[in-house]
Amino acid sequence: MDFKYIVVGAGFSGIVMAERISTVLGERTILLEQRNHIGGNAYDYYDEYGNLIHKYGPHIFHTTLPVVWNYLSQFTDWIPYEHKVLGSIDGQLMPIPFNLNSLHLAFPSKMAMRLEDKLIDGYGYNVKVPILKLRNNDDPELQFLADYIYEKVFLNYTIKQWGVSPEELSPSVTARVPVYVSRDDRYFQDKYQAMPRHGYTQMFENMLNSKLIHLMLNTDYKDVLSVDLETGEITFLGQPFDGKLIYTGPLDYFFDFKYGPLPYRSLRFEFENHATNSYQRVGTVNYPCDYDYTRVTEFKHLTHQQSQSTTIVREYPEPYEREKNLPYYPIKNDANAELLGLYHADARRLSNVFFLGRLAEYQYYNMDAVVSKALKVFSQNVCGGPQDT
Ligand code: FAD
Repeated sequence: MDFKYIVVGAGFSGIVMAERISTVLGERTILLEQRNHIGGNAYDYYDEYGNLIHKYGPHIFHTTLPVVWNYLSQFTDWIPYEHKVLGSIDGQLMPIPFNLNSLHLAFPSKMAMRLEDKLIDGYGYNVKVPILKLRNNDDPELQFLADYIYEKVFLNYTIKQWGVSPEELSPSVTARVPVYVSRDDRYFQDKYQAMPRHGYTQMFENMLNSKLIHLMLNTDYKDVLSVDLETGEITFLGQPFDGKLIYTGPLDYFFDFKYGPLPYRSLRFEFENHATNSYQRVGTVNYPCDYDYTRVTEFKHLTHQQSQSTTIVREYPEPYEREKNLPYYPIKNDANAELLGLYHADARRLSNVFFLGRLAEYQYYNMDAVVSKALKVFSQNVCGGPQDT
């Protein structure tokens, strides 16, 4: 066995690791992936109508981190894209997050002007004010605005997304819903906002374009590799392996669910092609109050693709069941934090295994955050130092 590294999972985390190990260390890596493609949840492909679509839901790249931007730019050119979201509220489409433009669409002009003046005087311009803060304002009209945003924009969307009752919603989540005192309709304000010119999958292929990386698709790692959970001894294809394992699959699965499953929320995606050039005004329209789905995304806005037709996706949140669908969003609450703590303690004992990424860390990460984390873990830990969990 002339390789020292095995990486499980060919999503962003695993691919960054395999790329760094081959480029910087000049070492060979085995990359194991259970799906029939690379890219994890950021995988994209051309559908039967020739439109570039994202199989696991729309992925919009944005970051404030030059280190992430510069790193990925080695593997792709970019198309500038600034994401915009409209919310369908009382039959009107208005910008989300709720901002001054939304205000003027939602309310009669005199009232909207008054609210605008009060918001700017009270909080300044280009500022995101949590609605809980607004709710605590002495002014009844600003309290009314906070309640309006809570009910029309946030409440039903969140109930649909997480499948919870309003009473179960943590105040800390509510506190974060903002009104954006600005005319800026962009969903993100990050310095770098763009999409890979030829798609994510092409970028991933460029990252893995090395003779030192041996990719095995359609391979659940447990079919070829076993780890003694007490001693950390690894066997690969029946042979002892004394290198390092970078694991980006689900944390509970690694430990055979010994403390029970870590709960997730899942999604069902419904794709639909329309024989028309354009379906909706912006990339994503949210439906907080109507329908079973939360949002509709039209891919052509994201990709700037010219084509005869357009493909959209509707997202239906649903409970996660291991045999039926995929784990998407970790469900964070006190009981699960305790469970996670038990798994973390076990993970810390395995000094030759690095747990990385959204599944192995049971953490919602944006793509830039996961790249940043992988680069850090590579330079601080895999290259030498101890693991920092
Ligand atoms: P993954 O992409 O999940 O990769 C893990 C890989 O491990 C998968 O390929 C999986 O098949 C493989 N694996 C699992 N178990 C095994 C096993 N037993 N054996 C072998 N392989 C295994 N981020 C943004 O920045 N912008 C967005 O717009 C955005 N939109 C999102 C929309 C949705 C619906 C979701 C759910 C996430 C979104 N994200 C977005 C987050 C983004 O998807 C993640 O940051 C990113 O996918 C994390 O990469 P990862 O490698 O950690 O995990």
